[in-house]
Amino acid sequence: MSLVSGLTQLKLSSMEIAGSLGRSRRDFLRDASGLVLGSSLGGSSAFLQGQTQQKKRKVVVVTFGGGARDQETFAPEGQVNISHMLHELAPRSTFFTQMMNKGILGHYVATASLATGVYETLNNFSAVPPGHPTVFEYFRKDLKRPLSNTWVIAPSNGFNRIGESEERGYGPGSGARVILPKHLLKAASSGSSADLKHLLLDSYETPLYTPHLGGGEIELQQLDAILKLSVADFMSHARSVSSPDELSMYIAKRLMREQSPSLLWITMHDIDIAHSGAYSLYVEAIQRTDRLCADLWRAIESDPEYAGNTTLFILPDFGRDADMEAGGNGFQHHRTGDTASRTTWMMALGAGIREGVIYDRPVQSIDLVPTLGAMMGFSAKLSQGQLIRELL
Ligand SMILES: [Zn+2]
Repeated sequence: MSLVSGLTQLKLSSMEIAGSLGRSRRDFLRDASGLVLGSSLGGSSAFLQGQTQQKKRKVVVVTFGGGARDQETFAPEGQVNISHMLHELAPRSTFFTQMMNKGILGHYVATASLATGVYETLNNFSAVPPGHPTVFEYFRKDLKRPLSNTWVIAPSNGFNRIGESEERGYGPGSGARVILPKHLLKAASSGSSADLKHLLLDSYETPLYTPHLGGGEIELQQLDAILKLSVADFMSHARSVSSPDELSMYIAKRLMREQSPSLLWITMHDIDIAHSGAYSLYVEAIQRTDRLCADLWRAIESDPEYAGNTTLFILPDFGRDADMEAGGNGFQHHRTGDTASRTTWMMALGAGIREGVIYDRPVQSIDLVPTLGAMMGFSAKLSQGQLIRELL
């Protein structure tokens, strides 16, 4: 029985729907990429042992931003849009088919939840810090890492506080620095931004929302010091890219080369253009995000600071609605909070990760941070997630 006919014939519980989505993804992946189902948690993944290696360990997290449905990604009719992930990345990855987000489905609050390991309840459209310590704070405090060792590249000015909480013992000055490419672009192009409109739109949901900045974001004059990039070169590159995520990826690669952060977090967001209702732009954004993820993996593998000691995580912040009924919004939004919009996936590849394995068991968005802690050697004390033992 297919999911859709199941839905119309009987009221399935959300757990059953989530399970069915996960199993479909697993079958699609096995057909397309030849992955096998993981069954045992036995044995360690022969991971880096010892201090020296642990010191070199790097993690890059990419959110496959803004939510895409299976119809345009893992389902047979969508696979053409994610050919890089399916054929280049999935065969090298451990893949979780059911990553559940049980929190609020707004992009900033969901990303903050991913970064703290707690379902945050902050107002999605306000410039407030996450309510609990972030992975960046745990990482720096326990491993005694300098400010330059962890960075966030975020798509929207509304993410400017994502780098650190206000929690006692952590908080201001102890988290990650945040780069907001759109903010930099706006500052660099003031007065002559007409040709850059497609890169400057800050939010696809509330285009008029302009948060007041005041977090740890870097400013234009620091481009040169941090990225060895002149404003003129930055502008000329911006004019050559087609989307904000392309600009973010350019900054990410530059940052890897100049600062070699050990914990790098990149939030992509192009796919959220689906809110505009333009299906072709939504699909194009999925294809671009797929290409950028593979591109990033190649950059990791070709950089001596990263090759062989880096684990890459790719996961959506959440999904999109699946209400295909008349009056529903189809691919466009994530406002119903239905099971499809909460059931996503996660791919991990690189150092310490078993290749070509799929796990069906449900994991949660908040499980990422404690798992990163176990991998890198810090304790995410206040996170509420569980360890994903299949990755350890
Ligand atoms: Zn959205």
